[in-house]
Amino acid sequence: MTKKEVNITLPTDENGLIPRQCPHCDGKFTIHSETFEEQQYLNLRCPYCEWVEEVDEFLTEEQATYSEAVAETELRRMAEKEFAEMWEDAFNGLSSNDFIEVETNTDEIDFGSRNAPSPHLSIETVQVTCSECSFRYAVRRDEDDPSCPVCR
Ligand SMILES: [Zn+2]
Ligand SMILES: [Zn+2]
Repeated sequence: MTKKEVNITLPTDENGLIPRQCPHCDGKFTIHSETFEEQQYLNLRCPYCEWVEEVDEFLTEEQATYSEAVAETELRRMAEKEFAEMWEDAFNGLSSNDFIEVETNTDEIDFGSRNAPSPHLSIETVQVTCSECSFRYAVRRDEDDPSCPVCR
């Protein structure tokens, strides 16, 4: 078995914000993805309960479902390709003297695919710009006093 790696890029919304979900209180919010990467932050603070954890722990349910579907489709695609090559190799091994005619049509192989659901948040958010570090993020509308996800 060869090891398969699938890289999944989680999409941001039209404002460059990427959804996050707190592993502690399950609160959902979004952060400005580019700024976060540029500043090379490793940890994130939940704007609701102030829980601090590594950014990878803040995967939302939507993103988890999305990644799973994308990975599955990608792995299927790789399997199809491999199967098609195997199939062709098997018949290429026959010498031209053999009185066997085989038609191979590998275009027909279809392992099916799954439509990836939307990775975006289903809640309404309001954008906030931190007055201390000017980091951009968004929280639920009913949150009056959110904590900046990156300020220390
Ligand atoms: Zn939280
Ligand atoms: Zn800040």
